[in-house]
Amino acid sequence: MSLMKKLVILVIAVSVWGCGQDQASEPAAPLDTVAEAGINMLPAGWTEIAPGGETTCSDGTPYRFFVRPGEADKLMVFFQGGGACWTRQTCDPAGQPTYTVNIAEGWSPEPFGAFNFENADNPFKDYSVVMAPYCTGDVHIGASDTVYPPLEEGGEPLTVHHQGRANAQAVLDWTYSNVPDPEQVFVTGSSAGAIPSPFYAALIAAHYSEASVAQLGDGAGGYRRMNADARPDEQWGTFDFLNKEAGFETLVPEGFNYEQLYIAAAKANPDILFARYDAAEDAVQKRFLALGGATDVQLMEALLANHADIAAEVSNIRSFVAGGESHTILRRPEFYSYGAQGVGIRDWVAQLANFAAPDDVTCDACVDDTFAGPAMPPAMAQLWRSWEDPKQQYVKPFKIFDNLYYVGIDWVAAYVIDTGDGLILIDSLYGKWVRQLVNNMRQLGLDPADVKYVINTHGHFDHAGGTRLFQEVYGARAVMSAEDWALAAEAPTAPAFYMPVPEQDIVAKDGDVIELGDTRVQMFKTPGHTTGVLSLVYDVHDGDNTYKAITLGGVGLNFSGVERTRMYLDSYARLMSMADDISVSLPNHAAMGGVFERAALLEQRQAGQPHPFVDPAGYQAALATFVANAEAKLVAEQAGTARDPLEELTAVLEGDE
Ligand SMILES: [Zn+2]
Repeated sequence: MSLMKKLVILVIAVSVWGCGQDQASEPAAPLDTVAEAGINMLPAGWTEIAPGGETTCSDGTPYRFFVRPGEADKLMVFFQGGGACWTRQTCDPAGQPTYTVNIAEGWSPEPFGAFNFENADNPFKDYSVVMAPYCTGDVHIGASDTVYPPLEEGGEPLTVHHQGRANAQAVLDWTYSNVPDPEQVFVTGSSAGAIPSPFYAALIAAHYSEASVAQLGDGAGGYRRMNADARPDEQWGTFDFLNKEAGFETLVPEGFNYEQLYIAAAKANPDILFARYDAAEDAVQKRFLALGGATDVQLMEALLANHADIAAEVSNIRSFVAGGESHTILRRPEFYSYGAQGVGIRDWVAQLANFAAPDDVTCDACVDDTFAGPAMPPAMAQLWRSWEDPKQQYVKPFKIFDNLYYVGIDWVAAYVIDTGDGLILIDSLYGKWVRQLVNNMRQLGLDPADVKYVINTHGHFDHAGGTRLFQEVYGARAVMSAEDWALAAEAPTAPAFYMPVPEQDIVAKDGDVIELGDTRVQMFKTPGHTTGVLSLVYDVHDGDNTYKAITLGGVGLNFSGVERTRMYLDSYARLMSMADDISVSLPNHAAMGGVFERAALLEQRQAGQPHPFVDPAGYQAALATFVANAEAKLVAEQAGTARDPLEELTAVLEGDE
């Protein structure tokens, strides 16, 4: 067996991490003329505004922002994050850009954290909200159309519209017209949107001179020094405007860092309450520090030193440093549950938004105490990096049968069945790959809004992580076994495995059928990998031929115990007894059934040749292998010599076997 196959089978199937990645969602109704009406004349929910004028995204596509009506006297202005770029390598959309290049078609803000307005605990549920998306690579403070020369002779130069300042001003102009007289204003942003938030808080406070203003930078407190090659004055044109604004006159390009925005804003505005939230081991901040050339990144030291620098100059600044590797908090579901030192983030932010200065909070067990569960062991972290790498994981979506498509990534499968009357999604990926899944569907001409059911083979994050988005944004029903609904609601075993917990919906029992259009998906409980694995049997069509296909719901042996191993063997004995009817295997990890090898053959297939996925003997042979592996595991479990799944994984990664 190849190493990769072993890894896939060993997959520590546990629960990721959204990484500040925004996922696609339903388009909001576009509206361009509401200036006279005011925000409260808008329909409930998000309205998209296309300001036109000087605004633009980095690639010249139009800029848009989002507004949501609420109480007229309470206003939140939110700046979105999404990386940054300052060189040809980091900016080039054709390479591996380290920022969000434009605003995806149909995107609107996801309903999580402080944007979950249904949650009674949301301190901002009654607020009028203005949300400034980010697509300029300049942390919202660029004012330059910058030409990056080609990397190789003869290449084309690349123009990047670093026009974040103009975009933000369009957002502010609209806000000033349509929310004319707020009493309470909360200015905030996450990640790259946190960086300019003290600057814009100062501008907004100057406009609303009667209002109380508080500010929170979410997840950008560790950028202590500017990178040698990242100069906001050079690449972004920041100093064409920055030191012309009241309060910021003393800033100069030489020695500039982002802490100076806090210091200048806080000095000039002693009535504004400024604040920062960070996680001590924030993996994304560490990555950007390393990308900027910082070696031996000590994020926690940088966070504390930055805060000390600001606090030495001004008293109207507060800081919350939580433990763990998670990046940003404000728009995550954990906004309501996470905290440090017994202080919940939600409560701390609510106090801030009410202009009662909260105490500084700094985590104690900053490495271990984390978003949810312990930090990731090194071996797992290595595997994790490969799972996050688009070069390794991206798979161009493809059609397998007339009614069946592959929309997954390299290491986790996801399939769409087109029933003729709506779509059924089998497994929903996780983290940033959910957005890839949605894009994959659109690329195949399938509308994610047509997904009527998401059937999760089991509750691990890699299969169930996108379910909540399909429920909330696309209105899909979700299906799992009772055991795995419970599993999906458990805290993840590492912060990276975080997923928005899906709302329990349809509870599948053994033999249940989901029927839609011309399709019946029968679900068999085949526990072992988890205690509620569902294996799915349904028809696939190839021209005039119809075949019975199966998606095995849980093959991996990364669990422990004699009883569980017996449970797995019982399930596979049952699957063997059902195998005569089955001629197509569409496993939920592609490597377990040669999905990509067969897809390559399918692409070469000539008229009249057999379909490479129709392979009953291959399916039966695979079952026999899974059983043999499980029997070997049973022996080891009974002898007490079975390694725990992570040890086994570590051994494989270190080449011990
Ligand atoms: Zn699993």
